[in-house]
Amino acid sequence: MIELENVSMTYPGGIEALKNVNINIEKGEFVFIVGSSGSGKTTLFKLLLKELDPTAGNITVAGYDYSKIKNKDIPKVRRRIGVVFQNFRLLKDRTIYENVAFAQRVIQTPARYIRRRVPAMLTLVGLADKYKELEGGEQQRVAMARALVNNPDIILADEPTGNLDPKNSLDIMNLLEDINKRGTTVVVVTHNKDIVNEMKKRVITLKKGVIISDEKEGGYIDED
Ligand code: ADP
Ligand code: MG
Repeated sequence: MIELENVSMTYPGGIEALKNVNINIEKGEFVFIVGSSGSGKTTLFKLLLKELDPTAGNITVAGYDYSKIKNKDIPKVRRRIGVVFQNFRLLKDRTIYENVAFAQRVIQTPARYIRRRVPAMLTLVGLADKYKELEGGEQQRVAMARALVNNPDIILADEPTGNLDPKNSLDIMNLLEDINKRGTTVVVVTHNKDIVNEMKKRVITLKKGVIISDEKEGGYIDED
């Protein structure tokens, strides 16, 4: 589902954010990508979304070879990836329903399909009958519903629990695990040590742009 072959990313100015990275993630896997600040996690995330192009190597996502992909196909591959961020990135002036529906409107989904799909996704994340102000954990649930509404093959999350307390963090992780059990490939970038150690998933550890460990039921490797 995701393949990186000898991928390097050197920013203008010479900072080598990733050096010769090789990763193969199969359909249906749940993978944590960990590493201290500056290790290259967000760079990797941006490469997977094709927001950045690597300075060397090859990236394939959902069957699309990024070195050969046509411009018109980039939105198609992004549609197959649901994205969740640390700061939720919700539209503040819209309702919960509208935030999720928006993800479908931008890809011209028919209204009758949106009317069915949005409530189903809000129910899935446990927000079926919420109308009041949302706290952080709830905002992240809305963001998850939005990420899921177009039925992606892959969920990519960059520090999804970075702004949440331990209880909400665990809830969001359990939700990601449920989604994974329904067949979606899940990749979570995090430095939440407790959660990584508790969940016993595959853990890929980056240090200064290099993979120093890739373990099937891994734990958090302390670098600092
Ligand atoms: P992480 O997400 O693990 O903290 P990043 O991928 O953000 O790491 O950064 C990896 C390295 O690349 C760091 O040394 C960072 O300063 C550098 N870097 C990140 N983005 C840029 C950029 N746009 N231009 C130049 N250097 C960058
Ligand atoms: Mg980062």
